[in-house]
Amino acid sequence: MKTIDIIVPCYNESEVIDMFYGECRRVTDSITDYSFHYIFVDDGSADDTLIKLKKICENPGADYISFSRNFGKESAMYSGLKNSTGDMVVIMDADLQHPPALFPEMIKGIEEGYDCSATHRASRDGDPPLRVWFTDKFYKLVNKISDVEMPNGAGDFRMMNRKMVNAVLSMSEVQRFSKGIFSWVGFKTKWIPFQDVERAAGQTKWSFWKLFVYALNGITAFSTAPLRFASVVGSIISFSSFLYLFYIILKTLIWGKEFPGYASTITLILFIGGVIILSCGILGEYIAKIYMEVKNRPIYIIGETSIKNSKDDSK
Ligand code: UDP
Ligand code: MG
Repeated sequence: MKTIDIIVPCYNESEVIDMFYGECRRVTDSITDYSFHYIFVDDGSADDTLIKLKKICENPGADYISFSRNFGKESAMYSGLKNSTGDMVVIMDADLQHPPALFPEMIKGIEEGYDCSATHRASRDGDPPLRVWFTDKFYKLVNKISDVEMPNGAGDFRMMNRKMVNAVLSMSEVQRFSKGIFSWVGFKTKWIPFQDVERAAGQTKWSFWKLFVYALNGITAFSTAPLRFASVVGSIISFSSFLYLFYIILKTLIWGKEFPGYASTITLILFIGGVIILSCGILGEYIAKIYMEVKNRPIYIIGETSIKNSKDDSK
């Protein structure tokens, strides 16, 4: 019988985790052709998520990994994938925003020969309007300037076969952006739409600022277009300055010396100064990325786990 691992990153989800497990078990118990294995990743929760997870993991077919601190959802997903052994792997949120009722359809996709059954939200009714607007713009931009295609509304809720999981694991960058990684590795993907719902209980961990940083990370992780933008703007300005210089020389030669010009000079200085600072900022973003990658720190550190021979990041 084929096995399916269900990876669930959990950060302060004590309010919802039991409900999640109950709901999920109802679905997985009804699918008898596959055996399911739950891998809960406690991402350094400050509430009693871990205590609840330990209780859940007394059931057969459920394990937990608990980080030494909060490393973020990307790290949690990575450690789950790293420690999974199933023929197929599902990644899903703990807050029931990802309906387990989709499992049969996702399995069907893989049986049909797809490497991945991925879901995308048919609507974003559960999100505040500003966030919807911001997300929409982000996807438009990132799809325009990067070399990967990231469909708007595509979340991390997906089922992958072993081949694709191994490909995802082979991308061991420290600053992970899974949406881009899933798309970058390729493979045949079946898209399944689902209706968005609000989280069952508890609170979202994403502040607007966190999302902004996440978006910036997504852009710099999969595109060098901002760097090119800086060089293009730099070149245009240098070229125009050269033309302007030429014009001034000619003007002076023809009409002689002229004193006024304070306004144009100050405008140009401010403008060029602004462009230089912007370009430095863009360069800085990439240098910071190089710096973090070069340090090659582990993506996660396990504090405790119920998995025997669990894999840390370096294995
Ligand atoms: N999560 C995590 N580490 C974090 C933040 C979130 O493991 O630092 C988990 C969280 O427990 C949930 C999933 O990632 O299972 C999605 O988080 P959330 O529901 O807050 O995000 P949203 O649905 O609002 O995008
Ligand atoms: Mg959520």
